[in-house]
Amino acid sequence: MVYLDYAATTPVLPEAAQAALAAMTEQWHNPSGRYAAAAQSAKRLEADRSAIAKALGCQPGELFFTSCGTESDNWAIRMGAHLNRRRGRHLITTAIEHAAVLETCKDLEKEGWEVTYLPPTSEGTVSPEDLRAALRPDTVLVSMMLVNNELGSVLPVRELCQIVKSYNRTILFHTDAVQGFLKVPFTARALGVDLLSLSGHKVHAPKGIGALYVRSGVKLPPLLTGGGQERGLRSGTEPTAQIAAFAEAVRVCAATSAADQAHMSALKEYALSNLAKKLPSVEEIVHGEAPHILALTLPGYKAEVLVRVLGDRGVCVSAGSACHRGKPSHVYAALKLSKPRRDGAFRVSLDRSTTREDLDALVEELVRAKEQLFPTMS
Ligand code: PLP
Repeated sequence: MVYLDYAATTPVLPEAAQAALAAMTEQWHNPSGRYAAAAQSAKRLEADRSAIAKALGCQPGELFFTSCGTESDNWAIRMGAHLNRRRGRHLITTAIEHAAVLETCKDLEKEGWEVTYLPPTSEGTVSPEDLRAALRPDTVLVSMMLVNNELGSVLPVRELCQIVKSYNRTILFHTDAVQGFLKVPFTARALGVDLLSLSGHKVHAPKGIGALYVRSGVKLPPLLTGGGQERGLRSGTEPTAQIAAFAEAVRVCAATSAADQAHMSALKEYALSNLAKKLPSVEEIVHGEAPHILALTLPGYKAEVLVRVLGDRGVCVSAGSACHRGKPSHVYAALKLSKPRRDGAFRVSLDRSTTREDLDALVEELVRAKEQLFPTMS
């Protein structure tokens, strides 16, 4: 099988699985316990937190474990808005965010919040001028992703955050960095954001573990209340096995991230030049800076069919984001792609382990699929 859908999820690294096994069978005690074995679990948990904080460029005390990227986005937006509700009821986001952000904003609209959804530029990012124009005295929170999961475009989050902060320092800035972590170089500190979401399964940890960075000094209320774990901010017995695996995956991937990013960038260019030679009818929708995502389209064809045909031949790519489950992509709609380009849009996403042979197989199968589909789809 040639798997090229790493933006949907990644396999768990053996080192990460090993760390999870040790946390499940050896250091399995509840970190809140008052005996020596529990203290060992707690110590391990804090070492794991520190490892991820180091890779993210923040203090361990600024990192809180959650169940997934979706929970981190929900927590940041719902509670960030709640924190500042007395100052105003206006939020700003983009029309190309992940559903975890967009659906949360839509929910808040039902509760009386006003949300401005900034349209993307033709490059799939956000114009600083549009953000400046959208800021209002009653704006309390801005949420803008770092890397778009369907396009691979990188938003200028540092600059966007600076614009917001120079307008009003008390406006909270959240970024969904789920697709950016370890794929593009950044630190939480350098971005200057208040809140930042991560997800483990995009970086070779298991599904069901995420984290939220909360900048020191931001008094974000908890989303989940209960036993007061995570310094009172995220209750629920800590999933120490998931956390151990997340931290181990981050240790391994962070050690080679610069080389991995260069490797994926080179592969991305290799795939594009091969496509230009062998299948020039495939177009790039945008040329995002993220090295692991290629946003492509075969205009006039149905991507759903194309992806199924490729899948039958063992090449796994996706028609837009895996989270849409057959619904038309809001990202392509926001980009105002023509119908033929939108219908034919698919995503190829790479990993540190991807090879040229994988991409040769992709191009070969795309050529075959196009020949096969042409009579019915043209
Ligand atoms: N944000 C972005 C940009 C994503 O790509 C994803 C997953 O696809 C999520 C959030 C949700 O993360 P999780 O699957 O951990 O809930």
